[in-house]
Amino acid sequence: MTKTSHALRWFAVLAAVFAFAGPEARAQAPTDEVIRTADINVRGLKRSDFPRMLKLADNVYVYSGLQVRTDIEMEFTTNNLVVVTSDGVLVADAQINDADTRQLLSEIGKVTKQPVKYVVVGSDHNDHTGGNGAFAPGTTFISHPTSKRVLEQRNAATGPNGAKIPVPSEVVADKKVLNLGGTEIQLLFLGRAHTGGDLSVYLPRENILFMSEAYFNRLFPSLYGGYPSEWIAAIKKAEAMNAAIYVPGHGFIDSPRVLREELTSFRLSLERVVSEGYRMKKAGVPLQRATRSAILGPFGYWTRAAQNLPEALGRVYAEADGELK
Ligand SMILES: [Zn+2]
Repeated sequence: MTKTSHALRWFAVLAAVFAFAGPEARAQAPTDEVIRTADINVRGLKRSDFPRMLKLADNVYVYSGLQVRTDIEMEFTTNNLVVVTSDGVLVADAQINDADTRQLLSEIGKVTKQPVKYVVVGSDHNDHTGGNGAFAPGTTFISHPTSKRVLEQRNAATGPNGAKIPVPSEVVADKKVLNLGGTEIQLLFLGRAHTGGDLSVYLPRENILFMSEAYFNRLFPSLYGGYPSEWIAAIKKAEAMNAAIYVPGHGFIDSPRVLREELTSFRLSLERVVSEGYRMKKAGVPLQRATRSAILGPFGYWTRAAQNLPEALGRVYAEADGELK
């Protein structure tokens, strides 16, 4: 018997086993075969398919809200981690405004009667914090010191009558371990990435790592305020943790295998932006022309590549000039 027919016979056996597996196994299988994109239209989904609440493990959920923003043309999700315990709920990141965040709260209300006790600011950008005022008074907000400063400055800029975002009362510069109702929750700063105050949330028992905006699933890197080379280092730290599930701040919550692969793809996209930026800087290409000269390969087709590239290269040029302090 040749090697090929051996392989074919094994394939037939496995296919037969798979066909008779339970409905759960069949439902899981296609998720590895999804179109790799962050754009809901490319997936054939509609606005009415959102928001979504997906269960990752017992008492652990991801809420995916859709931001319908006319300024950014494409429609993709913003994801929040929800950890339910017998001593309250921890939420990592929220949605862009109060109405969308109230929807998040109503979905949480469908899975538990426990109140939200903690909100972790993984990204201080407005699309993840703009709705923080919707949480009940008494909710504790936690962020990196950098993000706390950013939120204070944003509040100051809105003037005396503008709506204020709750300012975090606790900060995490490096690592903080919470024990909430017997669930260990680690808040980790893996390095400066998308905002400079990027916090990840790690659940050791479930081996789930929520990375907020340090990880976009198939969205071209947005480096508005980001730290190109340090971001790559932060992702490498996350990869070395070998989490079972890596949760992105934007993009689809795909199968664990796809999410793991796409975290690496995302790092590779950042590495491409950095290497192209340094290459052109060294060649003396002015920044204004660099966007037309960058060789992006497959990353050039990612969601929002054209929109995010100029800023991304600008940040790489700034890094090369030592301007990112
Ligand atoms: Zn964002």
